[in-house]
Parts: sequence; C-alpha cells; structure tokens
Amino acid sequence: MGAGAPGGPVPVRPDLQALSGYHSPQLAVAVRLNTNESPEPPPDAWREELRAALADLPLHRYPDREARELRAALAAHHGVTPEEVFCGTGSNEVLQCLLLAYGGPGRTAVTFEPSYAMHRQIGLVTGTALRSVPRGEGFAVDEPAAAAALAESAPSLCFVCSPNNPTGRAEPPEVLAWLLERTPGLLVVDEAYGQFAPSSALELRAAGVAGAERLVVVRTFSKTWAMAGVRLGYLVADPAVVAACELVALPYHLDAITQLAGRLALRYEAEMEERVQRLVAERRRLEAGLARLPVTAWPSDANFVLFRPETRPAREVWEGLLAHSVLVRDTSSWPGLEGCLRVTVGTPEENDRFLAALAEVLVPAS
Ligand code: PMP
Repeated sequence: MGAGAPGGPVPVRPDLQALSGYHSPQLAVAVRLNTNESPEPPPDAWREELRAALADLPLHRYPDREARELRAALAAHHGVTPEEVFCGTGSNEVLQCLLLAYGGPGRTAVTFEPSYAMHRQIGLVTGTALRSVPRGEGFAVDEPAAAAALAESAPSLCFVCSPNNPTGRAEPPEVLAWLLERTPGLLVVDEAYGQFAPSSALELRAAGVAGAERLVVVRTFSKTWAMAGVRLGYLVADPAVVAACELVALPYHLDAITQLAGRLALRYEAEMEERVQRLVAERRRLEAGLARLPVTAWPSDANFVLFRPETRPAREVWEGLLAHSVLVRDTSSWPGLEGCLRVTVGTPEENDRFLAALAEVLVPAS
C-alpha cells in the first residue's frame, strides 16, 4: 500500500506494524529495578575530570568523526588495535550498524530466544529476515536446533547475548566456539553485561579461535560503567567489520561529549571492577532472598535475576510491587517467559525493599 487518502495519515511501512512496544515504562517510583542500570553513579572524580575537560571542548566544531582518541583508549583497555574498535551512541546503535551493513533484504539473522529483544527488532527495522531458535533446558542454546537453523538459513549474522538478557546465564566459551564453527556469517556476542560474567568472547578472539575474523563482541558503558545516561557502546572485531560499520554510520554520529566521557571513564577501571564486585555480592544476596520465597529463580551471571512467582500471576505481582513503589520488568508476555519477571540488582537498601515488598505480595500477612 502506498500513501493514504489525501489529507489522511500516511501509513507507516506495513512490515513495521508488527513491532510491539519493547520499552519498559519509565515511572516515578522509589525503587527502579527494571532496566538493568547501575544503581550507583560513576565516581565523583570522573565527574570532576569531565566537568573540567568540558570547559575546553570546542563545541562549535563537529566531533572527531573517527573518535580516534576514544578508540585508542578502548584499544589499549582491551589489548587490541584502534582499527578493531567501532563506537556508537549506545550499543544499540552498534547493533544497528551491524544489521545495516550485514543484514537487510535477502539476508538472515539468527537469534536464540528468549533473548534481548532489540536484536530482532533492529533486524525487522532493517528488513533482515529473522530466524529464531528456541532455547532448550535452563535456557541454554539447544545445539541440535541451532545446528539445523544455521545450516538451513546460512545467516549473515548470528546473535548471542552473553550473559543472556533476560535469562541471566553467560555462554561457555566452548558453546561460542561451536557456534562460530557452524555459522557462515558473523557471530555477534552481545556482552552488555560482560564484566559480570566468568568469561568473555574477547578471550576467544585473543586466543585466535578458528573463525575469529567473524567474531564480533559488543559492549556498552550503560551497565557496568554506570553511564546509561551518556549513550556509549562499542564493538571489538576484525578491522573489516569496523570499516563496514563506518560505511553505514551517520557522519558525526558520536558526539564530542560522549567521546570525552568514555575516554575519561576508562581511567576508572578499578572503580568499575569494584562496583561490579559489590553488585555480584548483592546479586547473591538477592538470589538467597528469592530462594526463601515461593518463586522459581534462574541462576544469573549478570546484574539481574529472572524469576517466576508460583502463587500469583506475574502481572498481579508486578502491579503489587508497583503499589509498593518497586518497579521490575514484566517479561511475562515475552514468548518463552510466561509468568516471569526480571529484577535488576539495586543498592542493598533497594534490594531489601524489593524482597520485603515481594514477600508481602506473595505471602500476605494474615
Ligand atoms: N544489549 C543488551 C543485552 C542490553 O540488555 C542492552 C540494554 N538493555 C543493550 C544491548 C543496549 O544498551 P545501550 O544501547 O544502552 O548500550
């Protein structure tokens, strides 16, 4: 269908009508545990350095289109070359560049569901054919189903989220190597929560695994670096992949303030690691608290936990928590996650409030 009747609304692309709102509501609540952000702000010293450096930033000029200083700093951080690093406005933009460059009409992307919904959503927006493979027991990649889907669809991209949002587990390196061997295109490992996990696909790359030139690792500053408000993500991959992303990125897509903020943040790696350790300890406490309640919770290698209330429907529990001013993610309508909710690890006080509210919602005092 083309344009609508004269004067009427112009119809959007029919293939976009299938897009349902992925977004979590942004509600004014006391305890926000719905979008996997860091509950702690970045270090004060970073904020001070940024404030001072901003004074000298020539904001009347376009930013460095190639983000050279930031890429050099990230390259040093990961022990790679700047030509192996591409940065974007959040890792979502990086994922979009990958799909623009390697997906599109006539090409296929494989995902393992349930997983991070934006892989499919950006696939759809870019006109990429999507093949989703249901995960198996414990939400692990189902190897026979994966092998069949990869062989049949010969995808240009295969996405795997590790640790997987929203189910929590990281993929063991053997599984990633196995997928890399069987997929003809890029294996994109979304490590938005990578620093929480016991291992990284970056290690496989560094070890020169077979097919390493097709292995792409995507990271973000939004979670472990506590900078979701800045919008900075990047990938580490073969220089050919970086060059392909540069082809499709808009000119000056990464603003000067973000480039500066990211470069300065890398000086606070030790603080980031300490924050990650604190959150992992809190996650364990949260998991122990959930184990005492009538819920099924899945093990997590990230800063969130997926759980299924066993005594009341998930939507009612979500609403009950909201009535206590605690916001979690309602994943119960996502395919494969019927009855489930996801909670982000917060500060100790926030986690206590969540656990107390959940206990009241699930086991009301008589
Ligand atoms: N990947 C995963 C797995 C995520 O959970 C998120 C954020 N929810 C992103 C990518 C996008 O993060 P950002 O665009 O903030 O970098």
